[in-house]
Amino acid sequence: MAQFAIIGLGRFGSAAALELMKMGHSVLGVDTNPKLVDKYADQLSRAVIADVTDKLALEELGLDNFDVVLVAIGDDIEACLVCVVHLKSFGVPTIWVKATTHTQHLILAKLGVSRIIHPEEEMGIRVAQILSYPMVNDYISLGNGDFVVEITISPHLDGQTLASVLDPHTDNVNVLLIKHRSSTTLNPDPQHILQAKDLLVLFGQLSALRSIAPKLV
Ligand code: ATP
Repeated sequence: MAQFAIIGLGRFGSAAALELMKMGHSVLGVDTNPKLVDKYADQLSRAVIADVTDKLALEELGLDNFDVVLVAIGDDIEACLVCVVHLKSFGVPTIWVKATTHTQHLILAKLGVSRIIHPEEEMGIRVAQILSYPMVNDYISLGNGDFVVEITISPHLDGQTLASVLDPHTDNVNVLLIKHRSSTTLNPDPQHILQAKDLLVLFGQLSALRSIAPKLV
């Protein structure tokens, strides 16, 4: 279990905080808005009303002991940057920040935060990529063009063996697992029978995954 602090409980910050709670982590939520703090008080490990531009108030939260502090202050760029400067001065090891503008990004990069998130842009790219390959439910980019993708087996592949659809050598993709309802088969055998609606999780280069896409629709 890791310890996270989420500063700013707007739509983005609260969604991140609640998801981390679901994953079993400890989450401190911080906001100046008492209504929001009240709203999430029962759903988070701890929720505190504080203005994070106030160095003393921020220091009292003891954030240097947290694994990650996520600054999710929306439009108030100045408050976001002041908060990050304070967090840096306390020696908080890992700071993630939601950014909205290019200038804010440049300053955050100079301040040396661990990760700068542009949710709208990142989500837009993700949605476009999924839209262009509608059979892809979800994917993770591992960098250098490597991807893990999850695909739903289409009805026309029902009853076929894995080997008749994909050849790991010529197709250059690895089948990591197949999920049938609640059971998961890791490194499935080439003779594994595919069933419509099963989930196939593949690993490979984007170019290889793109070229096998027509076989899977
Ligand atoms: P959206 O709802 O568009 O996704 P968001 O969740 O990123 O936006 P806001 O709704 O603006 O952004 O939420 C930012 C939160 O940060 C607000 O709840 C606001 O009260 C809080 N906040 C702003 N300034 C401070 C501050 N100085 N200290 C603590 N919390 C702050």
